Amino acid sequence: MKNRLKPIPYARQDISRDDINAVIEVLHSDFLTQGPTVPAFEHDLRVKIGVNHAVAVSSATAALHITCLALGLKSEDWLWTTSISFVASANCALYCGAKVDFVDIDPITCNLSITKLQAKLEIAEKNGRLPRILVVVHLGGNSVDMQEIAKLSERYGFSVIEDASHALGGKYQGQYVGSCRYSDATIFSFHPVKIITSAEGGMITTNSESLAKKLLLLRSHGITRDVKNMHSPSDSSLYYEQVDLGYNYRLSDVCAALGKSQLTRLEAFVERRQYLAAEYERELSTLPLISVKQGRESYSSYHLYIVRLDLHTIQRSKEEINLLMKSKGINLSFHYIPIYRHPFYRRLGFDSRDFPESERYYSDALTLPLYPSMSDSDHRRVITAFRGVFVS
Ligand SMILES: *Cc1c(COP(=O)(O)O)cnc(C)c1O
Repeated sequence: MKNRLKPIPYARQDISRDDINAVIEVLHSDFLTQGPTVPAFEHDLRVKIGVNHAVAVSSATAALHITCLALGLKSEDWLWTTSISFVASANCALYCGAKVDFVDIDPITCNLSITKLQAKLEIAEKNGRLPRILVVVHLGGNSVDMQEIAKLSERYGFSVIEDASHALGGKYQGQYVGSCRYSDATIFSFHPVKIITSAEGGMITTNSESLAKKLLLLRSHGITRDVKNMHSPSDSSLYYEQVDLGYNYRLSDVCAALGKSQLTRLEAFVERRQYLAAEYERELSTLPLISVKQGRESYSSYHLYIVRLDLHTIQRSKEEINLLMKSKGINLSFHYIPIYRHPFYRRLGFDSRDFPESERYYSDALTLPLYPSMSDSDHRRVITAFRGVFVS
């Protein structure tokens, strides 16, 4: 009797009639995959973001894997990333046989700490263990200070991948995340909880033509049909060569049609997210929360609205609050369990004591529901319920 209201998820896709029609059109066409829709989606995203190349793949995880390969990550190399991310940001190193290490977070933005990165690089340089690749993650859509990252990359000679799975439509210094002004490549995810969706899917953007060429090869078995890339003279128009070890990481045209149609609403999605986030900010400002600040010169896409509980003031635990909200039909989430805490990573020898800020974040952070199709009344319900947790 109490919960007649529909449960509110933490995230949800927004599929329009136009999206559905775009997918149906491809289903009626000659090509479900390897047709014209994938290049059209790549074109639209590249133009929107303002970057030279965009390569669509089957997921952001696939994108991370082949971007590491294309940047030359090899066994015995190190890849560094932030401790607070989805596991895929680190797993890509291990797919390449390389080693992974984590940088603790900044307590204000909850992104990778640039101060700690710098200190860690100084030590690594002395030990001859500098990373070959740094994967930065724009947590919740809030950009890392990329200009500072670029300075360090120049000084210490590592490549930079932006894991922008959360940050499509976000901006840094007034330019779209993915323009790669300060990085070698940026990767996006089109999983349904993210900013736009293609059901499953991902994209890599880069300004390097040679990198884009390698990525195209690696996403499709390492096979080329371009005579210029062949080792032997082509004896027929049916001839092709495998010149590298690649994968089948292609996006289908069916999925690309959905992504391409969704992309036309990118600004509207992000504006709605910005609006809902600003309302949360205002309505929750009197609660005992530690605020998560946006980075310098960052315009967030607000994939996530993260709150941090001031556990010195609050009498309840994070889990109690989660369960109270759940009893009111509101599903919170948590982004993320520090990667080094997972049993797989613990087995590699990581120790929680090396990441004090991530540990603190793990104990006090929660993600409130936020998605563009969230109604004002559902948003109000979350605010009222969340405020209620602190008075009862
Ligand atoms: C979602 C996500 C990924 C993986 O995306 P898929 O498209 O599901 O493979 C990688 N990194 C981050 C930070 C993510 O949030």
